[in-house]
Amino acid sequence: MAEETIFSKIIRQEIDAPLLYQDELVTAFRDIAPKASSHILIVPNKLIPTINDVSADDEAALGRMITVAKQLAKEEGIEKNGYRLIINCNQHGGQEVYHIHMHLVGGEPLGPMLCI
Ligand code: AMP
Repeated sequence: MAEETIFSKIIRQEIDAPLLYQDELVTAFRDIAPKASSHILIVPNKLIPTINDVSADDEAALGRMITVAKQLAKEEGIEKNGYRLIINCNQHGGQEVYHIHMHLVGGEPLGPMLCI
């Protein structure tokens, strides 16, 4: 059984973090240390530590993360100029929180690659 992170507490609203979106599969909230003017995290409600741990059962939640990213990008007004979606995996990928999350970053030119 994987160890819970702060993201589980945010999903259950046990700590004060305003949610931008929540449904039965995913939750979205602003990154606490934004790397761009728009920086949102979209996470599956189920604790999946890394991309290495996903299974076919998770495909609905993983797909929902993309459709919610599209919706939030529109709400942020960044869809036309563009944005980047990033999922880090393990140490070399720069993952710090071991509960899968997709970074939605935008609102300014991000350059050829962004280190999140
Ligand atoms: P990663 O390096 O891909 O694991 O990204 C983890 C992200 O989670 C970082 O961008 C952190 O700023 C962000 N983060 C950590 N704790 C919180 C929190 N309590 N609320 C919102 N974002 C957080």
